[in-house]
Amino acid sequence: MSAVLLSTHGLVARYGDFQALYGVDFEIAAGEVVALIGANGAGKSTLLKSIMGLLRVAPDMVRLDGRPVGGAKPHKMVADGVAIVPEGRRLFTGMSVEDNLRVAIDHAARPREQGWTLERVFGLFPMLREKRATPVQSLSGGQQQMVAIGRALLNQPRLLLCDEISLGLAPKVVREIYQSIPSISQTGTAIVLVEQDVGLAQSASDRLYCMLEGRITLTGRSSDISRDAIGEAYFGASHAVA
Ligand code: ATP
Repeated sequence: MSAVLLSTHGLVARYGDFQALYGVDFEIAAGEVVALIGANGAGKSTLLKSIMGLLRVAPDMVRLDGRPVGGAKPHKMVADGVAIVPEGRRLFTGMSVEDNLRVAIDHAARPREQGWTLERVFGLFPMLREKRATPVQSLSGGQQQMVAIGRALLNQPRLLLCDEISLGLAPKVVREIYQSIPSISQTGTAIVLVEQDVGLAQSASDRLYCMLEGRITLTGRSSDISRDAIGEAYFGASHAVA
């Protein structure tokens, strides 16, 4: 594996008195696609939020290029090349597709290192070019997800965190969106895919982590991991599928 881009070390995260993560060790290299799977409430979104600076964690618990960045503010993480496609997308629904994308261009805190432009986003998702003047609220869920991914890419991320980008979408649309993943990683951008669909997660990623109750229960090369191992890691040994 090439040099580690981002890593977490014994990451602990809390919501008030509730502890959601118990010592998570995670890493991703430049250009790698890593899937993060686990049942509802396993802690996947909490891990992304901790990386993104949306939750308070100790500096040493998150490292970017080997430097401690845990607890850095989200805008600082964006400026350092980390972007998130949040669950629920959080778009400006009254604004057009193009204006949503231009907001990211106008506020980009980074040089165009990864080379993402409006034209390249339209190349990745041609449907968005056709709908460029359409208000986002009139788009289908899948098209809105494409806008959310495009907006994140226009921040020129070295690391793109995707939180359940297939949620609630028709299989055909999910395929269309997942087809864009290799084109994105080929630019050198590393991608974390939080995904409920285990088969999809496994086929779209180089490596995979499974979480259960705030802990990593399995990690390895996606192509090497057996369904049985995933079943056990996903549900816990006592609930393993036969
Ligand atoms: P999902 O697929 O449902 O999003 P997840 O694996 O992403 O699941 P998290 O959202 O990270 O799980 O939640 C981990 C734990 O933290 C759960 O027990 C959840 O109830 C709890 N939790 C998440 N957000 C909050 C919050 N804002 N306040 C309190 N507890 C929270």
